[in-house]
Amino acid sequence: MKIINPATEELIREVEEDSASTIEKKFDRVKEGQRRWRELPIEKRVACLSQFSALLEKNEEELARTLTQEMGKPIRESLNEISGARRRIQFFLDHAAEVLQPKIVHKEAGLVESLEFEPLGVIANISAWNYPYLVGVNVFVPALIAGNALLYKPSEYTTVTGLKIGELLWEAGVPPETFQVIVGGGSVGKELLTLPLDGFFFTGSYRTGQAIADAVASRMIPVGLELGGKDPLYVAADVKNVASVAAAAVEGSFYNNGQSCCAVERIYVERKIYPLFVQAFLAEVKKLKVGDPLNAGTTQGALARPSQVSFLEDQVQDAVQKGATLLIGGKRWGKKGAFFEPTVLVDVHHGMKVMKEESFGPVIGLQSVSDDEEAIHLMNDTEYGLTASVYSSNKERARAILSRIDTGTGYWNCCDRVSPYLPWSGRKHSGLGATLSSLGIQAFVKPKAYHLRQP
Ligand code: NAD
Repeated sequence: MKIINPATEELIREVEEDSASTIEKKFDRVKEGQRRWRELPIEKRVACLSQFSALLEKNEEELARTLTQEMGKPIRESLNEISGARRRIQFFLDHAAEVLQPKIVHKEAGLVESLEFEPLGVIANISAWNYPYLVGVNVFVPALIAGNALLYKPSEYTTVTGLKIGELLWEAGVPPETFQVIVGGGSVGKELLTLPLDGFFFTGSYRTGQAIADAVASRMIPVGLELGGKDPLYVAADVKNVASVAAAAVEGSFYNNGQSCCAVERIYVERKIYPLFVQAFLAEVKKLKVGDPLNAGTTQGALARPSQVSFLEDQVQDAVQKGATLLIGGKRWGKKGAFFEPTVLVDVHHGMKVMKEESFGPVIGLQSVSDDEEAIHLMNDTEYGLTASVYSSNKERARAILSRIDTGTGYWNCCDRVSPYLPWSGRKHSGLGATLSSLGIQAFVKPKAYHLRQP
């Protein structure tokens, strides 16, 4: 498999893809190893993951460079991602042992009822490329602490990063008999579905998530799906500072080139301040710098998947044909590499693809609304349900709106953020189950209820 730098179109390296037989060998190896791993005291497993975090810090410059070269994100954002992943790991190091500890839940004469947690066994983690460290640690860190073994398949767009994650885990003391990296694209991922695994944890598109859920449904094993989004942001007319809200909305829309599951994908603005907001938003977008992602000053690097350039061109064309006005951008940037200009569309409506299908790129539509009711209706008019954001100076008003939006996460005066203390969960086509928080630790264990009666 050829690993190509999406910014320069140059070959980075070639790697051997896994085949059905190498996957089976890796599976046999971790199946055997999981028994020993789960028997270790949890403190030992926590110590290995703590060492892994230290190794991420020690190697962050090299790891960030590799990530930028293979998926195109600006070097500053690669470094941010690694430090963000370390903060998430720290959450699991601090809380997993306590969440997983056996508990006596009830006692009466001669009887004790207690709850223990057992690891699922050997699980697959099929992962995405947009934040390979962040979405990876959401799964493999709590899963390993809980005593599972993993077959970890990074995306084909971040294979070198995935291999590096495996090496650092091994160096940190997680045995190769517990963690194996599976190299390849969609067909290799599909091959994993045929194995008798004890759980599938997937981050990626709705289409693939649905195929995975369908393929393993009859096996009655846990499936976790972290899927796409079409996340809305609503700006009410009572905001105190339109310029600072516009700056936050631009950051939420264009960070990581819009390739975040919780990126702001569509913006609604109360009519009274719409012209002012559009002006401030455009001024902020003009500050973005497209270019070589290895340059410290670049804010917009290359798109990870070259095919996304024509996908975005199609969305823009569809919108313009249906009456949208293109304020800036709208096309490929430069002569080489998968670059796309930061793009802002106004006069948009829900008959346009840009307001309904996930863009996953630097393209955003701004629509004016007459009141909160119209905003709520439009925000809910989507197949997705990951996050929604409301900017308003009135907390009760914002909470009332957010309580009526069918998403796993609601933001008041912020957007595009994830906290390890809160569950990360999508509704509708955005997913199933939760990662992070105590729920995202319990996701990797099975409860065992003990009824213990004294003879
Ligand atoms: P994708 O679905 O194309 O691929 C994801 C992974 O699945 C890759 O490793 C791929 O090789 C593998 N795969 C592809 N086809 C498969 C099949 N038939 N069987 C098994 N595995 C298969 O998604 P992507 O392009 O890597 O990621 C982008 C998507 O991920 C976006 O929709 C984004 O919103 C979503 N995402 C969601 C979250 C979240 O937390 N909700 C986080 C990051 C990304």
